[in-house]
Amino acid sequence: NLQDTVTLHNGVKMPWFGLGVYKVKEGEEVVQAVKAAIKNGYRSIDTAAVYKNEEGVGKAIKEALEENGLKREELFITSKVWNSDQGYESTLEAYETSLKKLNLDYLDLYLIHWAVKDKYKETWRALETLYKDGRVKAIGVSNFHIHHLEDLLKDAEIKPMINQVEYHPQLAQRDLRAFCRELGIQLEAWSPLAQGQLLGNETLKEIAAKYDKSVAKVILRWDLQNEVVTIPKSINKNRIIENAAIFDFELTQDDMEKINGLNEDRRVGPDPDNFNF
Ligand code: NAD
Repeated sequence: NLQDTVTLHNGVKMPWFGLGVYKVKEGEEVVQAVKAAIKNGYRSIDTAAVYKNEEGVGKAIKEALEENGLKREELFITSKVWNSDQGYESTLEAYETSLKKLNLDYLDLYLIHWAVKDKYKETWRALETLYKDGRVKAIGVSNFHIHHLEDLLKDAEIKPMINQVEYHPQLAQRDLRAFCRELGIQLEAWSPLAQGQLLGNETLKEIAAKYDKSVAKVILRWDLQNEVVTIPKSINKNRIIENAAIFDFELTQDDMEKINGLNEDRRVGPDPDNFNF
């Protein structure tokens, strides 16, 4: 079900499914979305310092815990250190700032948002410190190619628990997925719906019709069956509920293959190697 978890390599349990809040406005918009999600069974929320909505996420969490009789430990909250804060001391400070804004005393997962050249190793050292000091339950990276991971691992004491990357049927990340699986680094999908661009795809529409499900649900189900954690964004209550209803059907191997066949190595976001920092 919606609260099913994957056990990360350090033993921490992370929900397979969560709500992403990129481009969700600070204030009422983000508060409503996060509260609707938690009320409807979501337990994982993905934000970042650069989304500038951590205060609203924090407010929503506080209210949702009270209103739904939940404990903090039942939620899984992720944030990320932004590029301009990378480096050892500045990352430690950025973590405190995020905690303060979120009004929390720990995060479940803290990620390096992008692999900023010549900085990400120092940033990783800060995440290791936070982890060893018990300030955060799990640490990971985002937008890391294989070569970034190989480089990081040369000096890392702790292996990242997560790599959160752009992942959807047109960017199936075959090699990266195999590499991460081999190392026990859990892959997590950002823009799982390709920001809406795949919802009109004919092949997906045909498959969706067969199961009497929406295209969004078929894509998100494909994530789960490929063992990729997924965090679709919506601010619309009905879609928040719809997107999560993917635990009551299963795509056949044949349909999984058809969807795998849609890969075009096509990104909706920047390539981590040519991102202008
Ligand atoms: P997404 O692929 O989740 O797509 C969201 C878009 O699809 C929204 O415009 C929404 O209106 C629409 N949508 C959602 N459900 C729908 C449905 N059932 N039917 C029709 N339309 C629907 O895009 P995203 O927000 O870019 O990615 C999800 C999350 O991933 C983000 O919110 C963020 O938390 C994370 N993310 C991380 C990074 C990173 O660099 N680490 C980058 C981008 C996004």
